[in-house]
Amino acid sequence: ATPTAITCALSRLNRLGILVKNSQALETLPELTHIIFDKTGTLTEGRFSIVNIQRFQPVSSRQITDNELLNVVANLEQHSEHPIARAFVSHLKQNLAISQVTISIGQGISGIWQDQQLRVGSAEFCQINNPEQIGAANANVFVTIDQQLVAAFTLADNLRPHALTLIRNLQQQGYRLGMLTGDSSGQAAELAADLNLDFMQQGCSPADKVAAITALVNDGHKVLMLGDGINDSPGFNAAHISVAVDSGTDLSKNQADVVLLKPDISLLAFLLAAGKQASGIIR
Ligand code: ADP
Ligand code: MG
Repeated sequence: ATPTAITCALSRLNRLGILVKNSQALETLPELTHIIFDKTGTLTEGRFSIVNIQRFQPVSSRQITDNELLNVVANLEQHSEHPIARAFVSHLKQNLAISQVTISIGQGISGIWQDQQLRVGSAEFCQINNPEQIGAANANVFVTIDQQLVAAFTLADNLRPHALTLIRNLQQQGYRLGMLTGDSSGQAAELAADLNLDFMQQGCSPADKVAAITALVNDGHKVLMLGDGINDSPGFNAAHISVAVDSGTDLSKNQADVVLLKPDISLLAFLLAAGKQASGIIR
């Protein structure tokens, strides 16, 4: 293959909005068997709105109103860049002092507010063992104050336009499709069922995502991971080829082999087609 032919193929992809940063990774494309999707910000838009608040009364504390609680959570979430945080921050009314803010990637955020330990995040992060038992099966964000459950929030975001079309197209081509997500609410299972994915693992820490991808790789499969680049670097490194979709955050920060320069995951199909065509050219 001539360097000119490679340059040609890459610039054709570039015109479509596909930036190939590591052309060696393309060598895997013709043998690709598995495509793994991150959920939030990848299959979905990552623009959340609060659709339900369920309150719980902790023993030994005054009931704070929903608006007060939202303000407290918003003050903590200002420190996070997670898409979920943005939905809370729009409810900020008044600045409060919160100290010792700690972010746990893909899990949640904590801090000290009025000498109390405030935690906002997934059921695992807030140590809620059975969200179903407390009637919060679809809740994806929990709030605890000094280890006591105060609220369960349901935040929803939308499937990206073209997600369903892309998935159907990839299924027809025979790829095995899976989703790995840190979300452990009923919403993750619902989405995986709607899309008819071959497998889904929920409640994943970034390390769990790496383990799931590594297991496929060790079984001899060729794996592509598609993410939005937020918290995805470990998974990207474990896959044979990584693709990041533009989700409005700084794309230069992520380590993906390929970057989709538009918020349009259906571009992935063009990459796969180009990889098959160009397999003779690239090696
Ligand atoms: P995904 O794997 O689908 O991209 P993430 O790993 O980004 O999702 O997040 C997984 C879960 O962690 C969320 O569903 C939420 O429960 C929790 N979480 C992460 N960051 C935050 C945050 N800043 N505020 C509240 N919850 C959070
Ligand atoms: Mg994500």
